[in-house]
Parts: sequence; structure tokens; C-alpha cells
Amino acid sequence: MDTTPMFLQPELHEKIWGGAKLRDDFGYDIPSETTGECWGISAHPNGPALIKNGALAGRTLAEAWAEHRELFDNYKGDDFPLLTKILDARTDLSVQVHPDDAYAQANEHVPFGKTECWYIIDCDEGAEIVYGHTAPTREAFRQAVGEKKWDSLLRRVKVKSGDFFYVPSGTIHAICGGCLILETQQSSDTTYRVYDYDRPGTDGKPRPLHIRQSIECANCPHIDPELTYRVRQEEQAKFTELLRESLFTVSHWEIRGHADPIKKNWPFLLMSVLDGEGSLMIGGQPYALKKGDHLVVPSTVSELALDGKLDLIVSNPV
Ligand SMILES: [Zn+2]
Repeated sequence: MDTTPMFLQPELHEKIWGGAKLRDDFGYDIPSETTGECWGISAHPNGPALIKNGALAGRTLAEAWAEHRELFDNYKGDDFPLLTKILDARTDLSVQVHPDDAYAQANEHVPFGKTECWYIIDCDEGAEIVYGHTAPTREAFRQAVGEKKWDSLLRRVKVKSGDFFYVPSGTIHAICGGCLILETQQSSDTTYRVYDYDRPGTDGKPRPLHIRQSIECANCPHIDPELTYRVRQEEQAKFTELLRESLFTVSHWEIRGHADPIKKNWPFLLMSVLDGEGSLMIGGQPYALKKGDHLVVPSTVSELALDGKLDLIVSNPV
């Protein structure tokens, strides 16, 4: 039984709002000084990650999913469910909203809508995000969009490193300039832009807006979700479950030495190293981990151990 973790080659995507931190902070080979997204764990057709090691080296995660479902607990569904990205927002992303599964399937003919969540890795002093809106009803939302009352419509929230935001489908949102974020999301690339600051795209023309879809998909009124963090503190490790929702869970793991072995309670695990270095032990076999690594631990692993100084974001489908 193959228990080798699948280390992935990230896919890097240029964006008009991107910067150079994915190289300067994470050491990735970026295509330009406006690189916005690193798709670290992806089986999405718009950016499929390659497996770097083991028997499946050179294959994509999507191929592994299609041909070796036993490595993924025989998880149901045609498509790998999750996508992990690191985003470097040098300037503001568009104000946008994502559909839920039903809307995405009916209108875009894709399997998933997009519920996402953000862990703020680092940010500038005073950095903000747009999170939710002030319109009490869909009609009021439609009217404010029509009248371009962005200042009164959009809710701005100050952020600091270590903050976590849950962005279920239907949430009006924008990551703003100065934020470096790890995003865990459904494997989807469907975005409806409601406002793009009237700025030009790379071709000099404004990027398309999707006003009708945004109005149809926006949660009205916006209600802040209540999050309860579950913390497990050990002598040399701290495990914080940031989110447990119907589709996936996301946790922050801090390893400061020899962590106690962890027994599998997930179908399979997505792991991204935000900082530090150390090792992952599986069945007596060590695998070196360092900042910027993205990997999938297959379901054939029943127990793992971590060692070193490591900050990780770990997620799994439920
Ligand atoms: Zn988004």
C-alpha cells in the first residue's frame, strides 16, 4: 500500500492586482512582478498541479484522483473537491461574489460553487478587506449597485496576520492591497465581479462585470457567520481548528519540537507549510518539509508525526 505523501508543484498565475511576494517570501519561480496566485494544491483544469515525487511523479493531482481513488479514501465525485492557494494582493482584488453549488451547476455547468476561507499570513499595517454589505434586502442591494454607492454599501474590515475569515458562497467580498493570504476553497474558478474600481485590465479595457449574477447570488442581508475555534494544546504543538463546515475543515497547526503522533480522522489531508522547516514521519519514513511546500497525505496513511518548527494550514474534505 502506497503511503507516500504527494508533494505538488505549484501553479503560478499573473493577476493585475498581484505582486512579487510569492517569490520574495515563498521562493516560487514567478512569471512576472504581478503574480497574484499560487495554486498550491489543485486538480482544477485551469491550473492542475503536478506531483513531484513517488510512484506518481510527473502526473497531475487530477490524474491521481481519476486513476487512484484508493489514495483518496474512495471519496465520491468526479472532481477533486478542494483547492488551496496563496494570494499576494499588491492592490485590491475586485469586489466579487461566488455562486453556491446549485447556481454554479445550473448556470455555469461546473460541479462546484465556491465557498472559501482565508488565513491572513501577513499584511501591511492598516490593511483591510471587504467583507459583506449593508443592504437589508436584495432590492436594496440592487439599487445601491445601480447607483454605485460603494462607500456606503460595502463593509470594510481591518485585518492582521493570523486572522481567519470564512467566506461562504454568496458573501460579497474583496481581498484588498497589502494582504498575503492562504485560501482554502472549493475547487472552482467561478467569480462574479460586481465592482472593479473602474480600472483597466491588462489589455487596457475594464475587466468584465457580472452584475446580474452578483445580485442573484449575494446573500441579502449579509450575516456574519459565527466561528468557534477549537484549540488543542500539547507540550510541543498547538492545533487550532479554524473552521468545520459541511464541505471541509481547516486547521492551523503549530509544531515546536516533537509533536505527538496524530491518528487519521480525515479521508485525506491537504497540507501547506506557511513557515519554518521540519519533517513529516509516515511509517518510520521521514519527509522533509519547508516553507512553501504543498502536499496531499493519502488516505492510506493511518498515523503521522511532525517534528521541527512548522506553521501549517491543514484541510480535509468531510
Ligand atoms: Zn473570492
